[in-house]
Amino acid sequence: MTDPNCIFCKIASGQIPSACVFQDETAFAFLDIGPLAEGHVLLIPREHYQTLDQMPPDVAGRLLGRLPALVKAAVEAAGAEGVNVLQNNGKAASQEVPHVHFHVIPRRAGDAFRFNWPASKYPPGRMEELAKAIREKL
Ligand code: AMP
Ligand code: ZN
Repeated sequence: MTDPNCIFCKIASGQIPSACVFQDETAFAFLDIGPLAEGHVLLIPREHYQTLDQMPPDVAGRLLGRLPALVKAAVEAAGAEGVNVLQNNGKAASQEVPHVHFHVIPRRAGDAFRFNWPASKYPPGRMEELAKAIREKL
């Protein structure tokens, strides 16, 4: 299923042009128009799902199966030394385009891309409490 109003559905169907690097029956990958680094690629499912949790596991599995080769190709083509794979879900998590996508961002030591990674600490007992709550939801 696709969404006629979705920009990434239009890209996957070829209605909107893109710098495509890979496509098959499940997946489509293209260069991000606003790259955080050279060779920044977006990997999307052909079908429209807004967020990762909405994807059937088999479709998500096939999509993720395309990641290792894509990561290797993007890093080698960009002459990079490492890579970040990011996937934003929901506005609170900085998702702007509501069609599942994985960012593949080639990295070099000392490049301009910075994470804000405000690591904190759990108060006593909270970690076990959260692990139990998550286990119970699975
Ligand atoms: P996110 O914030 O995770 O939803 O990321 C959306 C990404 O889509 C941004 O990095 C945009 O630069 C990228 N983007 C939006 N429109 C296009 C487009 N037409 N072609 C390529 N990338 C796009
Ligand atoms: Zn879509």
